[in-house]
Amino acid sequence: MADQTKRLDSNVVGNFYVDATCINCDTCRQLAPTSFEEVGGFSAVTQQPTDEGHTHQAYQALLACPVGSIGTEHSDKLRMQGAMASFPLHLEGGVSYCGFNSEKSFGANSFFIEHPDGNWLVDSPRYIKQLVETFERKGGIARIFLTHKDDVADAEKYAAHFGAKRMIHQADVDAAPDAEWIIEGGDSIQVTPQFQIIPVPGHTAGSMALLYKNRFLFTGDHLWWDSAQKMLGAPQRLVWRKRVLVESIQKLIDYRFEWVLAGHGDRTRLPADEMRAQLQALVERRQPAT
Ligand code: SF4
Repeated sequence: MADQTKRLDSNVVGNFYVDATCINCDTCRQLAPTSFEEVGGFSAVTQQPTDEGHTHQAYQALLACPVGSIGTEHSDKLRMQGAMASFPLHLEGGVSYCGFNSEKSFGANSFFIEHPDGNWLVDSPRYIKQLVETFERKGGIARIFLTHKDDVADAEKYAAHFGAKRMIHQADVDAAPDAEWIIEGGDSIQVTPQFQIIPVPGHTAGSMALLYKNRFLFTGDHLWWDSAQKMLGAPQRLVWRKRVLVESIQKLIDYRFEWVLAGHGDRTRLPADEMRAQLQALVERRQPAT
């Protein structure tokens, strides 16, 4: 629950505000970019929503905020319920963004994939009733793909409730030591004809990406879309090995996909050839100077 007494001065006057407990995870700016901006190391409401669509987005941001730093002076129960019911937020082709980001993963995004052979969760949102019931209605969760050790959050609770198999790489297994499937080595694994696991060490030793239908690439913290610069980005700090990170980005050039769905950082969809050009440009920017 946000606290009006901690309301940041950087907020404009009006109903929505961010308080000083914000951890600057970027979730609200991805969901409601017309209302929220980064100001001085925190998010702030720099433009109050004035129409129905932007108000809905601001309520979605309020609910997705991992630490409850977004508040309203006057809560609108109906709009709050509408925003609650909008999660998981469908993106395309049965792939949804879960919302309800967890503080345990520093507010990382997580995703839900509906598939006739069993649904997948990619990383984990907070374990909350609304999501559990929605996943139940959609047929449960068969597999939980953990991109790396930082974004495990409440995966154990979802696995226990749904009898799902968690997958994590051996090098990051400390974050989920009792995971049901430990991935080893650096080779890609074709799990089913439509799902492929691609180890992408760099940010952590056990980082992995998941390629679905040669169209959606779930990247954890290996790769994201930088909407300010309009280019792909990759971690500059908190990197296990920089050279290995660049090699792992280079490896992805051999795959075809249109979507990048990141744990931290924005998601995007580009034509596959443009995505490949973006990857090549990122590799060139990140090659060490000779
Ligand atoms: S979602 Fe919450 S914690 Fe994250 S940047 Fe926005 S206000 Fe801050």
